[in-house]
Amino acid sequence: MALKNPADKGLQTRAIHAGEGPDPVTGASSPNLVMSSTFVVDEEVSFSANNMTAETPYVYTRWDNPTTRQLETKLALLENAEACLAFASGMAASCAVMLAHLNPGDHLVLSNTNYPGTAELARATLTRLGVEVTPVDTSEPAQIRAAMRDNTRMVWLETPSNPLLRLADIREAASITQAQDALLVVDSTFASPVATRPLELGADLVVHSLTKYIGGHGDAMGGAVCGEQALIGALRGEALVHYGGVISPFNAWLIMRGMATLPLRMACHQQNALEVARFLEQHPRVEMCRYPGLESHPQHALARAQMDNFGGMLCFRCADPRALAARMMERLEVIHYAVSLGHHRSLVYLMSTEDLIGSSYRLEGSELARYRELAGDGIFRLSIGLEDAADLIDDLARVL
Ligand SMILES: *Cc1c(COP(=O)(O)O)cnc(C)c1O
Repeated sequence: MALKNPADKGLQTRAIHAGEGPDPVTGASSPNLVMSSTFVVDEEVSFSANNMTAETPYVYTRWDNPTTRQLETKLALLENAEACLAFASGMAASCAVMLAHLNPGDHLVLSNTNYPGTAELARATLTRLGVEVTPVDTSEPAQIRAAMRDNTRMVWLETPSNPLLRLADIREAASITQAQDALLVVDSTFASPVATRPLELGADLVVHSLTKYIGGHGDAMGGAVCGEQALIGALRGEALVHYGGVISPFNAWLIMRGMATLPLRMACHQQNALEVARFLEQHPRVEMCRYPGLESHPQHALARAQMDNFGGMLCFRCADPRALAARMMERLEVIHYAVSLGHHRSLVYLMSTEDLIGSSYRLEGSELARYRELAGDGIFRLSIGLEDAADLIDDLARVL
């Protein structure tokens, strides 16, 4: 039997059982993987997804799929959301939210430093389609407030944000967007629902890259959006069915398996990250180290208030980062020199200031000066995995 009231259960129980249940025909305890792209129907069903209702049976996997539906139900229950919609990647989810909710002449406020894909999509594609885009430092609510205009329809936060681990106060931002007809969207990929549930703090939509902590094993790409049924239902019809960025049921199945251990993994990520951050912070070659769980993080108080877990992401700066990156590529044994994050394996990557400023953020004037002051020529983004903390520290000590 499946859980009767999954919302009443604890986080670990929900991560394991929500959305699933023994198969009614075979009794299989683990979820089935349904790869079928089409479904045999025994009643007349419209071939246009525009006529889809809650009662529509499974028709075609781009509209809806039983395995994907299980993943969506589980994630909605972890985010305390009414509904969830999965996509092929985090970028497919982000793109769906932006294109479905922003029209020519609308205005978007977003962080001036965030995931490069999102930054580039907003600055290149959205502006080409006639959306006005204002990047601000969303770690300061006053900057969000000052950027709001009559035509502001969306504020996009990422917290903690890539790559500086800046936080945004979701409750403060919600009080700003609720004062006018604007959606508050939070990319909560770095936090995961174990740390922060943005909808409880007033956000309208939460976006995740499932490729990261939620899947957790670096072997399946996916994305998701959570929120009220009305918003998510509209997104399914327009963004999923027509833009077509549908997740493979196989990836949904892998990600669902990863999710069962999300609360346990996050506890271990946090424990390891705190040990590594403390090691880096006192290392003579390290000029700056940022981790929300360190007392030295400028927004540590907000991290305590808004995060139940400080996560596994940290960044640090050293002199001559290119030489250090070269030593890392050659000599690291445990930590992989690779992009991405949130996997069981630790990953490190140099985020070069020149690349970020030139192609992703296009910062100028005082904003550029502030970024350079913190990041120098580049900072290392470190995604702490589930290995032994002592082995991670040894690996870093050898190259520093
Ligand atoms: C990785 C990432 C994305 C994009 O997700 P993909 O699954 O790679 O498309 C978006 N936002 C954040 C914060 C990310 O880390």
